Parts: sequence; C-alpha cells; structure tokens
Amino acid sequence: MAAVAALLLLSGGAYAVASAVISLAPDVAQLPTHEVSEAVTPLPLQPQADALEAYPFQLYRSDVSRSNDTADTLLKRLGIDDPAAAAFLRADPNAQQALLGRVGRSLKAEATDANALLRLVARWSPEDDGKFKRLVIERTGPTFSSRLETAPLTASSRLAGGTIQTSLFAATDDAQVPDAVAIQIAEIFSGDIDFHRELRKGDRFSVIYETLEGDGEPLRAGRVLSAEFVNDGKTYQAMWFQEPSASAASPQDEGRATHSLTKGGYYTLDGQSLRRAYLASPLAFSRVTSGFKMRFHPILHKWIAHLGVDYAAPIGTPVRSVGDGVVEFAGVQNGFGNVIYIKHRNNHTTVYGHLSRIAVKRGQRVSQGQNIGATGATGWATGPHLHFEFRVNGIHQNPLAVARKSESTPVPAAARPVFLRFASAVRQQLAAAAMLQTGTTQ
Ligand SMILES: [Zn+2]
Repeated sequence: MAAVAALLLLSGGAYAVASAVISLAPDVAQLPTHEVSEAVTPLPLQPQADALEAYPFQLYRSDVSRSNDTADTLLKRLGIDDPAAAAFLRADPNAQQALLGRVGRSLKAEATDANALLRLVARWSPEDDGKFKRLVIERTGPTFSSRLETAPLTASSRLAGGTIQTSLFAATDDAQVPDAVAIQIAEIFSGDIDFHRELRKGDRFSVIYETLEGDGEPLRAGRVLSAEFVNDGKTYQAMWFQEPSASAASPQDEGRATHSLTKGGYYTLDGQSLRRAYLASPLAFSRVTSGFKMRFHPILHKWIAHLGVDYAAPIGTPVRSVGDGVVEFAGVQNGFGNVIYIKHRNNHTTVYGHLSRIAVKRGQRVSQGQNIGATGATGWATGPHLHFEFRVNGIHQNPLAVARKSESTPVPAAARPVFLRFASAVRQQLAAAAMLQTGTTQ
C-alpha cells in the first residue's frame, strides 16, 4: 500500500503533455486539429496520502502479452496476485487459445487494492479486415467467466514528430511511432534520401498516419497520410493521394477502374509523384540494416578504384533491384564473388556484389523493388556487405544522384484541383505536427 501510494505521489509531479488527434472525416480540409499542452502542479502531498489511506481503490494496469507467458507470469507482470485467477486462466479454453503464449496482444487489467483480479481484457487485430478481437475475463461472484468478442476497429489519425539523435528508429521509438510507420517513411522518401547512409544528427521528421483502434487502444498501424523529412537542412514533403472517385470504388471494382491513379500513391505537395525510375538504396530500410555498422574499412577493395557504394548488412539481408530491368549477368566473378548485373533503360546498369544468394537468372525481367538475392561476403570482401554500383554508358555514377534525377510523373491535370485542395490541408497538418515535435522534445 505504502509503495503504491509513493508511486502515485511521484507521478503527480509537474510535467507537460503534448498530444494531438485528428479524426478521419470525408473532407480532409474540414478536419479539426486539437493540441493539448498543460503543466500539472502537484497537490500538497499529505492530503493525497490521507485520501489514499481512506478509500479502497481499483488499480488499472496495461501491458502486452508475450510468447512465453504463462498464467502466473502474465498476472505477475500486471501486478496481480490472485491464485484463483491464475487457476481460471490455466483451465479456461478461451484464455488458452487466445491469450497464453500469444505475442503482442494489448492487455488491460483491473484489480482490487489487494491485487485481486476484477477484469482482464486482451485486444488484438489478427487480420487486415477492419475488425478486432476482444477477450474479456471477469470476476463473477466467487469465480470468473470469459467471453470472446469481435468488434469493428475505428480509424483515426495520429500526428507525431521527432529529431534524429542516433538513428531513425531511436527517434520513432521516442515518438511512439510503430516500426511499420518508420519503414513507410523511409520508403516514401527512398527516391530522395538514402536512409542507410545519409541520415544526419539533427534531421527531423513529422508524420501523420492512420491508426486503427479497438476501444481506443491502437492495435494496427495504417498508412502514412503525409510526412515531412528534413535531411541535412533540406525539407522533403509527401502526401498520399488517390482520386476520390477511385478511392470510393470497392476493392472488387478496383481492378476494372481505368484511372491512372486507381491505386493511389505518394506525391510532393506540388503534385509530383514520389515514385521514381530508381530507388536510392538496394536494401530495404529495417531495424536490422539500420543498426548494422561497417566493421571494416570499405577502401580495402584495393583490386579496383572503389567506384561503388558499400552497405554494411548482416549476411542474408534481402537485396532488391533499384529499378525495372533485365538481368544481364548472375553468377560468380573475381572480386565481386556472387554478383548480379541488371540492365535498365537508357544504357543504365546496376551491379550488386558479394552476395550470399542469387535469386534471379540471366535474361530474367525484374521490377523495381523485386528481391534478387541476399547480402554476403563472397569474393574479395573483408566483412558482410553489399557492394553496389550504378553505371551510365559504362561510367560509374553516384547512385543517389541518378535516383534523384530520374523522371517522376505529375498528378493528371483533371485531378489537379482536388489534389491542390488536399495539399493545402496537408500543409496545415504537417505544420501542426512540426509544432507538436517541439512540444515533446523538451
Ligand atoms: Zn565496395
């Protein structure tokens, strides 16, 4: 009791909260934006302590289920000491099937001040079908009951922002942005920024993304709706755009629609598609590749003037073709080890060396982003990495410069008025997200 009281008193200290939620409405321009920022002054301590002693209270705790959870470890983590509840969880078919040993399910528990279980709710969204499952275990008199329910997810939008100190993932973790959203941000700007090699301390991001909630608990990250990234002082902005007529079509109709924008995509706010002929990086951005540092000096490629870009990555990391093309060579070469050459339009060639695995054959057509093999340390490599080259008419070029120069398509003229209306709303949202970021980094 005393320990709990001390915890509650501590958490009454002064702090500032900044959060913002916008809900999805038919017209983005009409979306309300709320920003809350408040300082909380602690109440005098003694009256609080007295109040805690005077009333029994219920305790609410949250956690996430783990794959190795047993009835006992799960309840213990939720601060519940209740042998009857543990026995119920072990015996109940719903708990066995939907809770114990299931990873990543959102848990909320309600307990008495004696740490006995009153109610335990687990929520999760197993499929991308707009629904979530809810397992409710409740004390009913001397024993417990359980029930399994299905309910619709509600979509809302979340604003978040952060500044890169060490890595993109460290910054998105601080901003409580899910990995799926961090990866989307990296992919959206992948034609402009090489997130493996070009991130700078002090780079900033702002993002507005869809989050799917069950009973107010975020259970699934949806699509990034708009994002801004400031890399080395240069600002990049992107928004998702789909022509309203196309987005209103049901999934079955989509295949038959003739709009060029049927699938939607990311655009700059002045209406240029962010999809380019080439990706800046042959490795998809991930927690693994972002945390893997070069443990050798790339200049050790003494067998040739170093005319490529080296990406450190654990052996087996998937390698993708940066553009549409045809496999010109796939096999072993001195120095390069297992290597793939891909021929693209306009006499452009990309080269992927030191692979541990080759997944394509000579003459095969590949599309942008397609997996072609995996990183390794074959040939004259002193550590696991991908050696990547971009050649134009046989002459080596900086891959990122080529990716940035490659042509992009504008929004069709007919859709432009609608696009510009969306873009103006997005500008305001990104400005709000940028303000939010200064609120949370203090
Ligand atoms: Zn190299």
